[in-house]
Amino acid sequence: MPELPEVESLRRYLIREGIVGRTFDQIVLEDKPSPISGTGAISRIANVKGRKIKSLERRGKQIVAVLDGGVMGLHMGMTGQLNVLGSDESAPRFTRALFTLTNDLRIALVDPRRWAKLQYFETLNQALKGLGPDALDPDLTGDRFVQSFRGRTAQIKPLLLNQSIIAGVGNIYADESLHRVKISPDRRADDIPTDSYKALLLAIRESLEHALAFIQSNLDDRGRPYIVDAHDERMHLLRKPGSFCPRCEIPLVTQKFSGRTAYFCSNCQK
Ligand SMILES: [Zn+2]
Repeated sequence: MPELPEVESLRRYLIREGIVGRTFDQIVLEDKPSPISGTGAISRIANVKGRKIKSLERRGKQIVAVLDGGVMGLHMGMTGQLNVLGSDESAPRFTRALFTLTNDLRIALVDPRRWAKLQYFETLNQALKGLGPDALDPDLTGDRFVQSFRGRTAQIKPLLLNQSIIAGVGNIYADESLHRVKISPDRRADDIPTDSYKALLLAIRESLEHALAFIQSNLDDRGRPYIVDAHDERMHLLRKPGSFCPRCEIPLVTQKFSGRTAYFCSNCQK
């Protein structure tokens, strides 16, 4: 599943390909009904026709194309990819939507599982509804981060995954960061000291930036940021049964929080 580093890499790829400043000339959607909302959805997207892309932004895993009238939200779901096509290249298998922009720049949404969401919104606020500050946003200071967890009695792991508190921390990055600062995923949020929260924010950024740098240095031969099965190399924690804590060299334990499996060390994470 694409996480923040993959989504940010996709945003940078689309900017490198020069989509900002171009206008949507044509949109062709696959001739199938879109899955009902809740899984993937392509909705109201005809509204982007004739609109120019002014900028391409990201918050958490949501990319937003700010248009000269409205906003287009792009969420890649589990398997969505946006590929800029060569001039004589036909649309690949599993193309769900094909966009032609100024000067015949074509972009295909390729999505085998059809869980990606492309949506038109009137305003940026609507497109970013329910999302807290982005994990890499410099405006998210240590103090503001601490404030977001103050008075909360839930365990820290599910809170970190709650995108309305901080956007863009996925399951593997939450585990990675908690391990780096030696906090157990089942620790109650109101039991964690201020300094540990500040260290946690730095650890979250460090692990996300590390993964981002890895993806950027492993682009495919078309300059696209799509990596297959390399996620172990981006992480300190090996997410496999029987793997060991890199500090204590004892087996990691697993436990589910809100349905998501956490890997952690019962010895050094308290
Ligand atoms: Zn350990």
